[in-house]
Amino acid sequence: MVTIHRCENYQTEMIERALSEIIEDIGGFAPYIKKGETVLLKVNLVMGKGPELAATTHPAFVAALAKRLKEYGCCVIIGDSPGGPFNTAMLRRIYKITGMQQAAEESGAKLSFNTESVQLSGVAGNRLKNLTVTAMSQEADKVISVCKLKTHGMMTYTGAVKNMFGTIPGTMKAEYHVRMPKMEDFADALIDICEARRPVLSFMDAVMGMEGDGPTSGSPRKIGAVLASASPYELDMVAAGLIGLGEQQVPTLRAAAMRNLAPCAVQTKGDTPEEFTVRDFRMPEHIHTDLSQGGFLPKIGMKLLRPKVKFDLGRCVGCGDCAANCPAKVIVMKERREGEKNSRLRKPVVDYRSCIRCFCCQELCPQSAVHVKESWIFKLANKI
Ligand code: SF4
Ligand code: SF4
Repeated sequence: MVTIHRCENYQTEMIERALSEIIEDIGGFAPYIKKGETVLLKVNLVMGKGPELAATTHPAFVAALAKRLKEYGCCVIIGDSPGGPFNTAMLRRIYKITGMQQAAEESGAKLSFNTESVQLSGVAGNRLKNLTVTAMSQEADKVISVCKLKTHGMMTYTGAVKNMFGTIPGTMKAEYHVRMPKMEDFADALIDICEARRPVLSFMDAVMGMEGDGPTSGSPRKIGAVLASASPYELDMVAAGLIGLGEQQVPTLRAAAMRNLAPCAVQTKGDTPEEFTVRDFRMPEHIHTDLSQGGFLPKIGMKLLRPKVKFDLGRCVGCGDCAANCPAKVIVMKERREGEKNSRLRKPVVDYRSCIRCFCCQELCPQSAVHVKESWIFKLANKI
């Protein structure tokens, strides 16, 4: 069951009312969490961007949820392991920029600065049997996924399930892209990670979603809803539908269906999902396509068809984050040719022969200077 209620904006009164409605629909916290337990609100803080940019879970939503859990009698911790280096200084900076510091102050929740890792062995995953996860995700009695509805260049959509990838420490996430460059394998691994620390509840901030080049370089788009469910898969099925995506278009939902984790049809409570459907929600310019799967396209030549990351060097400030976090280590920073604007700065150069098309560089660029472009042959072939 998924509950969905209208929430027009992030004003405290509006958020608190909508949150009360979804908490009531799931039967309160008692069926999932005992009074006195410690709960981690696993928010989506993919990178240090202000809440108005809709890349991260909105602090007003997090504060309202934390307050309700505190009133219920829980010790509440807010935390995430964003992309890039995972250290106290980086967490402090990101908590401040994303508004989580204020959310914690307002609600009486604590921010987690635990950057330790924990080994999980004997994980009963399809792809993963051993996992290194953040200690913050293990030290709480229960975890709640507090996610954001966004598009995603590699996975098409990100919500409750993909949010749990943030239980993998910082740059270690890159290893998963290297080990599983195929989208279907990666989606299956995301399910393993979600199941390894299955959230007891998932809450979604879909007041403002992100359309276009999500999860970090897209544009805010109003959806006007908040959702909750005990099942991250059911929540994602309903939320993906709000932006016009069916189960077959979302790799994590396909993988969940194969593992009988998602039902064919989801029961909903509250408002009708159709009221919130945004028919012209913009998808990423390129949606990652697994070209190894049948059809005539592979015969044309994989290399010619595969999309490429393109760097807008006019926007690039030469910070080097893309090179530092490229899982395949195929980006080098080089000085631009003499005479060009900002010629003193070093700019990224990619070895496309070894690029695994994970799009981490697009996700982590603080300047939105990385775009994913389909080849003209792919565009042409898709029209045939
Ligand atoms: S492309 Fe983005 S991440 Fe890479 S160096 Fe330029 S600004 Fe930094
Ligand atoms: S260049 Fe970008 S897309 Fe290619 S492997 Fe590196 S991070 Fe991934």
